[in-house]
Amino acid sequence: MREAEFKLGRCLLVRLKHGSEVNAEILDIAKDNKIHTATFTLIGALKHAKIAYYNQAKKEYKLMELQGPHEISSCTGNVSLRENKPFVHAHVVLADEHGSTKSGHLLEGIVFAAELHLQELVGTKLEREHDDTTGLALWKTGGK
Ligand code: ZN
Repeated sequence: MREAEFKLGRCLLVRLKHGSEVNAEILDIAKDNKIHTATFTLIGALKHAKIAYYNQAKKEYKLMELQGPHEISSCTGNVSLRENKPFVHAHVVLADEHGSTKSGHLLEGIVFAAELHLQELVGTKLEREHDDTTGLALWKTGGK
């Protein structure tokens, strides 16, 4: 089976703390609520952010630091297990004061104000493992 099947669990709406870091806050919320698997969306604004582009040939992330306030036009992601601990994977589209956007894998986002919608998923453990082909920690689902 390539897919892992889940039932919908709790649906949490959370205002993230001003000055907190997005990934760390989502991780804290997941841990506090004993959530191992989830999907989420987030909107709001960041004070600054570090995002990354994955160079597929080099198998490494290229860091981009965005200074100054940006709108979180879109942020989606998931929570699964990596080395048996909850792990947050988030991607963002961030807009500057002109509406110009930059987007990528979210490494760090410092919250100005942000609203999280976290959807718990209940089922088997969804774990990540190193994948040699991509160099990434990808989901391992059932047998292939
Ligand atoms: Zn990513």
